[in-house]
Amino acid sequence: MFIKEKLDRLIKSLPSNVQLVAVSKTKPLSDIQEAYDAGQRVFGENKIQEMVNKYNELPKDIQWHMIGHLQRNKIKHMAHFVDMIHGVDSLEKLIEIDKQAKKHDRVIKCLLQVKIAQEDSKFGLNEKEIIEILKTNEIKDLKNIKVVGLMGMATFTNDVEQLSDEFKSLSTFFNKLNSSLMIDLDTLSMGMSGDYQIAIKNGSNMIRVGSAIFGERNYLA
Ligand SMILES: *Cc1c(COP(=O)(O)O)cnc(C)c1O
Repeated sequence: MFIKEKLDRLIKSLPSNVQLVAVSKTKPLSDIQEAYDAGQRVFGENKIQEMVNKYNELPKDIQWHMIGHLQRNKIKHMAHFVDMIHGVDSLEKLIEIDKQAKKHDRVIKCLLQVKIAQEDSKFGLNEKEIIEILKTNEIKDLKNIKVVGLMGMATFTNDVEQLSDEFKSLSTFFNKLNSSLMIDLDTLSMGMSGDYQIAIKNGSNMIRVGSAIFGERNYLA
C-alpha cells in the first residue's frame, strides 16, 4: 500500500477530536512530500538536526513537532520554526525554550513528558514533579512558551491490559490537573503505531504514528 492510502485509511478511522502527528523520522523527503500532498500537515521528528534539514527543504506550512528526548543546548537550532515540543522534562528546559522562542518573537507549545512505562529506559517526570513545575511562579513569566498538555510513552509490550492501565493512569492525571490547578491543558499525546487504538480508548487526543504510515524504519540504511 502507498503512503497516501495508509494515511487516508488511518485518518478515516480516527475520532474527530484526535489529532495525528505523522512521525517521519529516518524517512526521506519524498515520503513526507507524499503525505503532505495527501493533506497531512503535522509531522514529528526525534532528532533536531534531521528536523531542521527537512524544514529547510519542505513546504513552510508544515507544523513540525519535536517528539524526541531534548538536549537543552540544541533547542536554539529549532526555535525559529518548531510548532510543538513533546518531551519537555524539566523547568530548566522550559526556560531555555522560552528564551530561544523570544529571540524569534514566537510562542512554542510544549508538552510535559510523564513517565508511565515500567521500563527504565523511558524518560519523563512523575506526577509530583509535574505539579511542582506547573505551580512555580517562574512559569508564569515565560511568555514565549505555552504548556498545552502532557505526553507519555507506554511500555513496549503486547499486553493490552497493561497498555490500557498505563494510558488510563495518564489520562486520569491529566483530568485531575485540569480540575485542580487553575490551568487549561488541552492536549494529551499518547499512542503510537502499535498502541494508538488503546490510547484513544483511554483518552488520548493526539497520536504519534510513524511505521503504520511510512512503513518500518531501517536504522542501518
Ligand atoms: C518513533 C516514535 C513514535 C512513532 O513510532 P511508530 O511505532 O513508528 O508509530 C512515536 N513517539 C515517539 C516518541 C517516537 O520516538
